[in-house]
Formats: sequence, structure tokens, C-alpha cells
Amino acid sequence: MSVATWAEHEGVPVLRLRALEALGGVRAIFTGRRGGVSPRWGDGLNWSLSVGDRPEQVRENRRRTLAILGLDPGDAVMGGLVHGDRVVAVDNEPQGIRKPGGSGGAQAMPKSDGPGGDVQVIPNADGLITDRRGLALVITAADCVPVYLYDPVRRVIGMVHAGWRGTVAGIAAAAVRAMQAHYGCDPADIHAAIGPSIGPCCYEVDEPVAGPVRRHYGAQASALLRPATRDGRYMLDLWAANRLDLASAGVGQVYTAAVCTACQRDRLFSHRAEAGGAGRAAAIIVMC
Ligand SMILES: [Zn+2]
Repeated sequence: MSVATWAEHEGVPVLRLRALEALGGVRAIFTGRRGGVSPRWGDGLNWSLSVGDRPEQVRENRRRTLAILGLDPGDAVMGGLVHGDRVVAVDNEPQGIRKPGGSGGAQAMPKSDGPGGDVQVIPNADGLITDRRGLALVITAADCVPVYLYDPVRRVIGMVHAGWRGTVAGIAAAAVRAMQAHYGCDPADIHAAIGPSIGPCCYEVDEPVAGPVRRHYGAQASALLRPATRDGRYMLDLWAANRLDLASAGVGQVYTAAVCTACQRDRLFSHRAEAGGAGRAAAIIVMC
């Protein structure tokens, strides 16, 4: 079985993370570039408000995507991404969020949704976790690695945004620890899927990125940084890097979609392949 396969829902093609969905009780998708209303990319399905679309166009793209899962925008929360390592436990019953390990208790959040509303953004959060059925966790990306987490025993999910900065900050392992601390998950029960993102085939980096990778991974870094054809450059394998962090956190199963966004720029948004002119895809996980 492929880890991720394409499926089309009412004209919106998405990748489905089959390896996770086969466990039952969870749905996990990654959006392609078509099926929406963003004029810059034809019928683009861009999820970002900061790449030139009008807000109502982005809202429509989000609505169409979530409808695939039988959800409204008010059923989803999105990480406000800062390439950091902060993981937030989302508890929308009642509307509120708690910070893992925080002592301040639930912090009331204004209800931002409802008919015609939009997805709620959790500020300064590259990782989200929840045990709420029907609450979708979303991160946006266009090359950065989405890491999907699912514990079918405790019934807890997580969604992580891991670009190179988040990866070397250890955000994937931080999310696993937050699932342990907050919901009592045993990491051995957790299944992780590394979603579509720029692959080792296309992700050339220079020393300012290679240095932090060496510092985080030590002796294992040489397997993650293969020399590129250009001097002083490396091909960075963020998929293998995140697999290492997940394994060290004790995660029982890690699947890799092995879908490179830059190789598949005809179907997926890629920041690199489109020289910064890309829209943003959504990586979404929800328990049903
Ligand atoms: Zn590639």
C-alpha cells in the first residue's frame, strides 16, 4: 500500500495519507494546487492569506478543502507558523487553548467561526495536538515537511510544521512529548507520517543550513547531508532527519510519503521550484 495516494473529491484533487487512514478513526490529507479559486494559479487551491489572493478567495479554498472531510471552517484550527518548536494542545470544548505544561489553565478564545467564518489561527504554533474528535488540525506548507501524528490507542492526533529550522529545533519530537505529557500517550503507540514536501532529490542547501543540521544530529548528520554537485552545497534529507527525531522520541511507526513537492510542481505547490511564487498547501488531520 502506498503511504499517500491521490483522490479527487468534487473536482478537488488531494493526497490521502492512506497509511494513517488505514488504522481507522482518522482522516489525513494534503492538498494539491488545483480545484480552488485562486486566479494566480488558474484554479489554484491556495491556503495562505499572504501570497496575493483576496481573503474571500482563500476562505473559499479553505471551505472547499474542509468540505471534503465533511467539515466547516469553524471545525478547524491552523498553526500560526513561525518556524519554531512550540506545540499547542487545542481544546475547543469550550473554545479555548492550553499550552502544554502551562499552569495558567484554559485560556478563553473568542469564537471566530460560524457560517461564512474562517479557520481559527493559533498564534506562534508550529505544532498542534488534540484529543477532540471532529476538530481538524491544519498547517500550511509549500516544501516544508508536514508531520502527521496519530495515537489510535489514546485517540490523540498531532500536526507539525517542520521546515529545516523546525526540524533542527526538534519540533517533531516536541510534539510527541506534548502528546505524552498532555494526553498520556505511549510513544510506541504513535504512528507518524511524513507528508509531501521537498525531497533529498531537490533540497540543495548551503553552510548556514548545514551547520545547524550538524549541530543537531552530530555523527548522524553525514547521512542527511549528501554533497551536491556545486562546491560547498549539500542535498538535505529532511524526511530522514524527521525520521531520526521521531525514532529517538520512541515513535512506534513512521511512514514516509516520499512525494517531493519540487519534483511534482505540476500537481503541488513548491516554494523552491516556483522561485517563491507558490501558493500554500494544507496538511490536515482529523479524528472521526
Ligand atoms: Zn525532488
